[in-house]
Amino acid sequence: MLFRNEKSRSRGNLVPVLPLRDIIVFPHMVVPLFVGREKSIAALEEAMNNEKDIFLAAQKNAKTNNPGVDDIYRVGTLGQILQLLRLPDGMVKVLVEGRQRYRIADFATQDPFFTAELEAVHETTSRSQSEIEAIVRSVNGSFESYVKLNKKVPPEMLVSVSAIDDPGRLADTVAAHLELKLEDKQALLEVADPGERLEEVFRYLQGEVEILEIEKRIRGRVKKQMERTQREYYLNEQMRAIQKELGQADESKNELSELEDRLKKKDMPKEARDKAQKELKKLRMMSPMSAEATVVRNYIDWILDLPWNEKTPEKIEIDDVERILDEDHYGLEKPKQRITEYLAVLKLVERIQGPVLCLVGPPGVGKTSLAKSIARALGRNFVRVSLGGVRDEAEIRGHRRTYIGALPGKVIQSVKKAGSSNPVFLLDEIDKMSSDFRGDPASAMLEVLDPEQNANFNDHYLDLDYNISDVMFITTANNLYQIPGPLRDRMEVIRIEGYTELEKLNIAKRHLVPKVLKNHGLEGKSVNISDSAILEVVRHYTRESGVRNLERELAGICRKIARDIVKSNRTRAVRVTGNAVEKYLGPIKFRTDKAAEKDVVGVTQGLAWTEFGGDMLLIEVSVTSGKGKLTLTGKLGEVMQESAQAAMSYVRSLSAQLGLHADYFQNHDLHVHVPEGAIPKDGPSAGITLATAITSALTGIPVKRSVAMTGEITLRGRVLPIGGLKEKLLAAHRAGITEVLIPKDNEKDLRDVPQVVKDELQVTIVEEMEEVLRHALVRPVGNAKPETPTPTEVPDVEASQQPAPPFN
Ligand code: ADP
Repeated sequence: MLFRNEKSRSRGNLVPVLPLRDIIVFPHMVVPLFVGREKSIAALEEAMNNEKDIFLAAQKNAKTNNPGVDDIYRVGTLGQILQLLRLPDGMVKVLVEGRQRYRIADFATQDPFFTAELEAVHETTSRSQSEIEAIVRSVNGSFESYVKLNKKVPPEMLVSVSAIDDPGRLADTVAAHLELKLEDKQALLEVADPGERLEEVFRYLQGEVEILEIEKRIRGRVKKQMERTQREYYLNEQMRAIQKELGQADESKNELSELEDRLKKKDMPKEARDKAQKELKKLRMMSPMSAEATVVRNYIDWILDLPWNEKTPEKIEIDDVERILDEDHYGLEKPKQRITEYLAVLKLVERIQGPVLCLVGPPGVGKTSLAKSIARALGRNFVRVSLGGVRDEAEIRGHRRTYIGALPGKVIQSVKKAGSSNPVFLLDEIDKMSSDFRGDPASAMLEVLDPEQNANFNDHYLDLDYNISDVMFITTANNLYQIPGPLRDRMEVIRIEGYTELEKLNIAKRHLVPKVLKNHGLEGKSVNISDSAILEVVRHYTRESGVRNLERELAGICRKIARDIVKSNRTRAVRVTGNAVEKYLGPIKFRTDKAAEKDVVGVTQGLAWTEFGGDMLLIEVSVTSGKGKLTLTGKLGEVMQESAQAAMSYVRSLSAQLGLHADYFQNHDLHVHVPEGAIPKDGPSAGITLATAITSALTGIPVKRSVAMTGEITLRGRVLPIGGLKEKLLAAHRAGITEVLIPKDNEKDLRDVPQVVKDELQVTIVEEMEEVLRHALVRPVGNAKPETPTPTEVPDVEASQQPAPPFN
């Protein structure tokens, strides 16, 4: 073979040159070339006429059509033509094989084609054998990855490449397959040192592998994404087809578009809209029959049903408010006045902030109906939630949606029921909430009722903020002291006391009777319930501070009348008189608390205040022989027990005055009993009653039956103030008491007591226990006639066996 293994080519042996536009032919590489330029074809013809040798050198710029000598790289590959084919269009296709790199020493001719004189390139390496070995292995490894990643290289190449030991040849073979820029390939070709060349090739190879790997990763990701979308699309289409078969498709589509429509039309905050949209999107993906879809649909329904920005027009006209409150309620002057004041302030500050109204009073005194009237007067919608017995925070705040069957709490439910975002919201019986392990509802309530801190309320189910700053909350309670402190602090308390008999009569005449007649279809049927009948019901069929049972019993009468009318087709007027009540309601239910029948030793009438109003509280004391023990029975609360001890100590300090022996208390036991099961016996208002009963029992002086009393006592006998005076006086009045002893400090509370009561009741102000005794006992204690204590009061075996000794 010509030139092979020659160190240099002797001058005069010129070789035709084929300038290549965009390819570098490396030694050992077989490539087809298409040749069209005349000059190049001439060079090929010359080669064919000789040894088929042709020098393949790249042009520096592929675009140059007619390159000069300077446009051609000097280093190239001497190749041999394996095959030459003339194509019909004048082009020539030639198959050449690269043999060895040479450098053009000089161009001999340029026309009609280039010929050049070549000089050999010495391929010796400076690398050690082991270095070469290492690079060869690395290149082999990398090339394997390259072939795997690059589909353009046929896999058979791997076998032939791994068989090459010679580093130079390996470098050339691999370089031929790399996708490099022309200049880079040329640079590789020009590296004479095979070790160095192979190293360069390795560097390029590594870079290529890295790029290919990244490409693969990206391709994979894109593919996966596409697959998923396609899969979802396919499955959805399939599902739709199935639903269509089952006849559900239209339905669910309608439903979805209906939800969408509603969402579009609904005025709501962005946060809620986004959430609803997100859920709607989820719903679209689900089978409409699945349980999950129902949950999601319910949730969207809740969002859509809530009045987010729908307000009823607000009007606060104080005259209207006063008129409506008066229209709906008899009496209640003070509460009505306080309510109008509260609303007047609201009107001035133009927003609902600050304290929440709290109506406190016994059941049936009109708390709920006052709140309803407020709503009516303001033109707001009204909702009521009873908090009685609520012990779980979730009842107020709702359950998280992850729970099966979860729902929003009472607040959000009621707002939905109200249908506007500015209703009057009545929180009934806020004192009856309790807390247990399921969380503290009071703290949830606190969040609702603290407008300073929270304009928004977050329900667990909705998981969205709902603006409650326009809601007007009103609370009610029977007992102020059972409301948790922090809640109480945020309230403006309006107390509503019980009604007198006369007030009840008026309420019944003006409001209750017309109402029950209407409810029973007796309106305009000439049914008349007389005053005496109402009073009879008040006195003997109800025992309450409010009028709830009164209303119930009147309804009972109406039911009977309705039955009679329907049964006998009667058209005659019906008049219910006091005497006829028993016919309608059966035997009387309560005998009014009556004052004691006679003056009794050791029995005193106190006055108690309970959640249900005032009541009489009887206290009995008996003395027996014994060892100085004080026994308290009747389930007394702690405070009352202490009151009894204090009363006892006070009376003991009076021993001498009462004419008792110094060792009297060592030989006698005292038994204090408070009968009457229905009244909770606690509270600090029975001190003077206890002391009076004890004194009476010890001295044997009877207590006046016409007197009742209330007041706490100190050890030195001072009388301290009590609460619930109005209720207590009403109870005394009901019971037919004629004189009531009250503490001096309660004198101011007499203002609230209805005049009728004050007219018929002699109210005596007391400051010291001595005054109490003076008014209550039939005789003054100072000149007490020694009497035998009365063990007969309570049957006592021991006492009757051993009659107690006389006092002195
Ligand atoms: P509360 O909420 O205090 O327990 P309600 O407001 O439910 O009591 O009152 C019970 C019934 O008594 C209602 O029908 C109410 O209209 C009526 N009522 C109570 N007080 C009055 C009053 N002062 N005037 C007219 N009706 C009254």
